[in-house]
Amino acid sequence: MNTEDKNKENSKYRIFDLTWVEVKEWLKKTDVVLVPIGSTEQHGPGLPMGIDSYAGYYVCIEAAKKAEVPVAPLLPYGYSCFHMRPDEPGTITLRDETLFNVLYDIGRSLIYHGFKKIVFSTGHTSNAPTVDRVIRALRYETGAMAVGYAADTEVFSELCEDLIEGKDQLPGWHAGEIETSGAMLICPDLVRLDRVEKTLPTTPGYLPGGSVKDSGSGFGFKYKDFPIRFPFDQWEYSKTGIMGNPHLASREKGEKIYGRMIDLFAEFLTKLKAVPVEITKKDFPERF
Ligand SMILES: [Zn+2]
Repeated sequence: MNTEDKNKENSKYRIFDLTWVEVKEWLKKTDVVLVPIGSTEQHGPGLPMGIDSYAGYYVCIEAAKKAEVPVAPLLPYGYSCFHMRPDEPGTITLRDETLFNVLYDIGRSLIYHGFKKIVFSTGHTSNAPTVDRVIRALRYETGAMAVGYAADTEVFSELCEDLIEGKDQLPGWHAGEIETSGAMLICPDLVRLDRVEKTLPTTPGYLPGGSVKDSGSGFGFKYKDFPIRFPFDQWEYSKTGIMGNPHLASREKGEKIYGRMIDLFAEFLTKLKAVPVEITKKDFPERF
């Protein structure tokens, strides 16, 4: 399929491109809808700010085509406060309550129009705690089946162990082996491999002796193998924004890893279509 045909094909699934006539047709066929969420945040000097959005959206649209469900517009911002870097500009973050309110309103709008299963799919791990609160609120307040799905690379690394070379080099973390492979597949023209190098996180010097920062997480570190959480800024433990080894990345790897994720997601969505759900409250909201 050439690019023009592919765009045409994708348009059929993108609510943003449709009129209400086609959305009505979708609602006759399914009550499932996908809501892709990404981020605009630094990913080191080699990947675009929008990689979580590009990759998250790619997974959604490809899975939607296999499962025959529509896709709401991408939200290209997320909860990225710990990526704000004084000397490495570009990150745009939403506060937790802003993200909650935007996602909640999107959910209520879709439920108002007849969708009963709202699948929030995030390409950025740190959106997940907010998504958790949104899906609980939507379920309790409307009866909808609101689902949170992480189309992110940390999850991929567990499911694709056999495809990964740098298992000990945080393959699923920020701008590492998997994410860079995804970028080489999804937005190859935006990748600057000439600027990147393998970088693993370092332990901030202010932590009590015996502490080790051995993951890319914005919260986790270990004290003598005991997990403890602290709200780090990423520049405190990663100088460049890279955590992993981007030089192990390849387009072929991206194709295999993301292909596997898309198949799994599509299989879940197909089964989700058959689950009966009753909406108890459609009106939204009381305070326009
Ligand atoms: Zn990312």
